[in-house]
Amino acid sequence: MRASLLQEFLGRSEISDILQAALSGQRLGFDECLRLVKSDDVYSMGLVANILRQKKFADTITFINNIILNYTNVCVTYCKFCAFYRPPGHEESYTVPIEEIVRRVATSREMFGITQVLIQGGHNPNLNLQYYEDAFRAIKAKCPEVGINGLSPSEVDMISRVERSSTREVLSRLKAAGMDTFAGGGAEILEDRVKDEISPLKIRSHEWLRIMEEAHEIGLKSVATMMYGTVETEKERASHIMKIAELQEKTGGFMVFVPWSFEPNKTEIQAEGSIKYPSGGHSLLKMIAISRIMFNGLIDHLQSSWLTNGIGMAQLALNYGADDFGGTLIGEEVVSATGARSTELTSGKIIAAVKQAGFRVAERDNSYRIIKYH
Ligand code: SF4
Repeated sequence: MRASLLQEFLGRSEISDILQAALSGQRLGFDECLRLVKSDDVYSMGLVANILRQKKFADTITFINNIILNYTNVCVTYCKFCAFYRPPGHEESYTVPIEEIVRRVATSREMFGITQVLIQGGHNPNLNLQYYEDAFRAIKAKCPEVGINGLSPSEVDMISRVERSSTREVLSRLKAAGMDTFAGGGAEILEDRVKDEISPLKIRSHEWLRIMEEAHEIGLKSVATMMYGTVETEKERASHIMKIAELQEKTGGFMVFVPWSFEPNKTEIQAEGSIKYPSGGHSLLKMIAISRIMFNGLIDHLQSSWLTNGIGMAQLALNYGADDFGGTLIGEEVVSATGARSTELTSGKIIAAVKQAGFRVAERDNSYRIIKYH
């Protein structure tokens, strides 16, 4: 769009001042973020978010060939939004033995050429730090070229309680054992009022932020996430984004922001009927665009979240600020437990989807370095 046409178009928007400030590279604060969250002018936000993405990445969209290893579904945290966990002793509970973890990674490396394993699971009180250290060391011994993107702050907190150790010590030992990056899920919305409603037994917001900061301090880069669409208010959405932005200003440790919409099927929240903002395509594109605008110059990468939103919406998100399609996520079980996942996505399907959306597609590694263009 020509510059004069763009100015004319944005001039008609109720959020014109914010969008102009974003285009000129200004850092935005809570009030601006809240106005974006409250606005329905998603098209104008998308236009600006897309310009910001283009400035940084031109026409290249990345993805990663990876698997998810959900090593245990045993969990004592009973989050109301989760359809995946089983209590200890439940007949459907499982923990994947270390030999099987290594076999899955090695087979996936051989068959699909994966360059990352994303390791996440429940809060299993029967697993000590040794289990994770042995698993990471065994993966690295067999497949040194596969990056380990592991665990969330709440899993690290659980391990520290099992070990009676500090979270910093746990993180240091995990890093020494081969964990390359800290996967960092489990943020949901970093507001304790929300946590009290949807995950009262999970670590508090300040603990999530503290553990993240510790990871960054010892040199573990990580992923910032957001799960929206449960019971949070617009203010709480804006507050979540600002808390991530503030920590990033302090540490610079987040590589990517991944906002995804809550998938309600088979969860306690759905049964209670307490969902405030049912998610849809409009909501997804808005959150993607807001993320690019708010994290411009702070967090480089933004994922389009095909897993919960479907491939079609993830394609559209590439025009609203996302620069990364995420991973093939072979073997994922957490979202699949809700029945939301309708397809297995191979690298071939991702490449075709990105090309169809009009972009150049590149495969990346665990640290967002481009391995090859397709
Ligand atoms: S989201 Fe994670 S911590 Fe919460 S119940 Fe599910 S497995 Fe457990």
